[in-house]
Amino acid sequence: MTVYDLDLEQLTERLVSWGEPAYRARQVYAQLWRRSATYDEMTDLSAALRGRLEAELPLGVEVLDERTADRGATRKVLLQLGGRHVIETVLMGYRDRATACVSSQSGCAMNCSFCATGQMGLMNNLSAGEIAAQVVWARRAAHKLPPSTPQRITNVVFMGMGEPLSNERHTFGALEKITGAMGIGDRHVTVSTIGVAPAIPRLAEAFPQVGLAVSLHAADDVTRNALVPANKLWPLAELQDAIDAWRERTHRRPSIEWAMIDRTNDSDDQAERLAPIALRLRAHVNLIPLNPTPGWPSQPSPPERIRAFVAILEDAGVAVTVRDTRGREIEAACGQLSLEHEGVAARSR
Ligand code: SAH
Repeated sequence: MTVYDLDLEQLTERLVSWGEPAYRARQVYAQLWRRSATYDEMTDLSAALRGRLEAELPLGVEVLDERTADRGATRKVLLQLGGRHVIETVLMGYRDRATACVSSQSGCAMNCSFCATGQMGLMNNLSAGEIAAQVVWARRAAHKLPPSTPQRITNVVFMGMGEPLSNERHTFGALEKITGAMGIGDRHVTVSTIGVAPAIPRLAEAFPQVGLAVSLHAADDVTRNALVPANKLWPLAELQDAIDAWRERTHRRPSIEWAMIDRTNDSDDQAERLAPIALRLRAHVNLIPLNPTPGWPSQPSPPERIRAFVAILEDAGVAVTVRDTRGREIEAACGQLSLEHEGVAARSR
């Protein structure tokens, strides 16, 4: 837990119990969320009050490691939240936008074979405040992005560690803070899921403007069961129904994420099976060349295989992009940096 877990009412209650006027809490709250300020920077408060805030309501965001790549346009940080959970947050600057990629859990229970976070198992759910605090960190770090990119966070994606829809309550709580107190537009926020089917319509109901990305990775149940064990719980037919329900409620275009894995899910046959699924769901397909992880021997698909896969999809009329892979040299694949810091991660269990 961090101060970011308190809403304005709870913060007011605390400060009033210390003998402060209610407007002081509004002052602190606005600076925490709108200015991403630390207590040190709240120079309009007395030193005594700043000290008490620091001691009793700590921000709870400690940077353990920070790396940059792509000439400073990618920044990856290992954060310790609430004095316990160690997670990764990534900031990516592009010409027209700057995206914060946040974690929803430390570790993950979904156990996808190719994913570094999946290989470490689930340690903890993050609280709503701990998820939102990562966006606060990213907003501060955005000032250090190169001048060729916006120096403020325009987009947030839930594509860091963990499965956001397995931590539904806190993910929804974080969405409320990010789109509410932080003032980031719902349409600029995307939740990425492995396909927790029952939670997808609930996301649409609660946040009809928030985007949805589904990590499909395979277009038949046998192949998908092997890569994504959660497919045994929510097989492709059920998952597609859930995405349909989401589309009906939101009238938005979902994304399909697909890691391109050499001789695993990159055949013509997979592309031919994916095309009708993507067309029916009116989905945009994002292909991501696999980022190899220590716990799994597979390699990314070679460029000519990716080109052939793209051609089949395009010929069928599917909107497809090959995602540029950011920050390979800084272990920016989901979970890789914390694997490297296993010792730290283990202590946070
Ligand atoms: N659990 C959520 C969000 C975290 S993963 C989900 O599954 O969508 C974010 C994205 O990175 C997912 O599409 C995931 O499949 C992909 N990913 C994970 N490990 C990867 C790797 N080693 N190489 C390429 N993409 C990977």
